[in-house]
Amino acid sequence: MDLFEYQGKSLYQSYEISHPKSVLIKNLNDLEKVNTLNYPVVVKAQVQVGGRGKAGGIKVVNNYQELEDSANAIFGMDIKGHKVEILLVEEASEIYEEYYISFTLDRSEKKYLMMLSSKGGMDIEQVAKDTPDDLIKLHISPSEGLIDKDLDNSILNAKLNQEYTVELIQIIKKLFELFVAGDCDLVEVNPLAITSSGVMALDAKVALDMNAKFKHENFQTLEDEIPIPEEEKYAKERGLNFIKLDGSVGIIGNGAGLVMSTLDVVAEHGGNAANFLDIGGGAQSETVSAALEVLETDPNVKSVLINIFGGITRCDLVAEGIVKATKGKNLKWPIVIRLDGTNALEGLDILKNNPNENIFISENMDNAAKLAVESGA
Ligand code: GDP
Ligand code: MN
Repeated sequence: MDLFEYQGKSLYQSYEISHPKSVLIKNLNDLEKVNTLNYPVVVKAQVQVGGRGKAGGIKVVNNYQELEDSANAIFGMDIKGHKVEILLVEEASEIYEEYYISFTLDRSEKKYLMMLSSKGGMDIEQVAKDTPDDLIKLHISPSEGLIDKDLDNSILNAKLNQEYTVELIQIIKKLFELFVAGDCDLVEVNPLAITSSGVMALDAKVALDMNAKFKHENFQTLEDEIPIPEEEKYAKERGLNFIKLDGSVGIIGNGAGLVMSTLDVVAEHGGNAANFLDIGGGAQSETVSAALEVLETDPNVKSVLINIFGGITRCDLVAEGIVKATKGKNLKWPIVIRLDGTNALEGLDILKNNPNENIFISENMDNAAKLAVESGA
């Protein structure tokens, strides 16, 4: 689970990783809290996407008036499709040098991977591409941990400022501790900065390994703070497994494997899925009606493909659900249905006895996908 910067920094607090003093702003009335900080301060949009600086989501301000203006401008801003609803305001640092560091898991090596570079503050993918020698990689054995000598060498090879070696070692070790003891999938700091008040982690990109949730009380709290899209919430309450995507063909299927292959077949026919919606095994007719309701909330949907292979799921119950949800209704979009497996014939009979001019039946998955793509074009 990806965290917001401010959440990552709350973990820095627990692991004593030095970072700027800050306050969290959820609405304009909170701005008074900034009085506890020293100007200049940096106003930072809290969105789970990189490149906020370039998008205008980060502003350094010198007084309350400027703070108000910036907060007004940044609140509600759209950064790559993410709406800004929270700001982090922190004391600005006087930056001398910007470095990059990250810890992640290299599954193929069965080791942790530390990446370190003197070229921080910028897009690290670009550094890796243009000047790969400037990105130092160190594999760390989980049983041995971060070995002092290896860390010294990495700092040396990355050409970090030797005057700060002691401080750098200290902060890097704490970041590694957060990564391991904190059960993170990723800890990325860009920039790790040399400032007038020493070495500090100015940014935080942390992802948690949610398989370790049972070990950490704070994981649930952090999860609760992350907003999920309305449709996903609605779907979850109805026991549906729903993920919003950005195409136009709404997909309903039973079983994650079938739904995934349905996405592929739709793509093969030149379409793009609007979502992933798994009604699960043994779905009842209410589940199917709920699934259709979820899709109705998405304005991008232009056609719907219902792909059911009945095992535990009975096709007649699915058909009943479809009829219940659509009977006598003027449908917003064409629905293409493929029913196969348990009670498929009964299901198809139910559909035939309750015709709707916007419902189309297809005997196989390939044709169904083709029809769904074409009818939504
Ligand atoms: P990102 O663009 O989303 O990665 O956001 P960052 O938090 O990494 O900030 C982007 C850039 O803003 C940094 O690389 C710095 O150059 C600048 N920046 C962030 N905080 C400060 C600060 O306290 N003082 C100054 N002068 N610049 C800052
Ligand atoms: Mn950054």
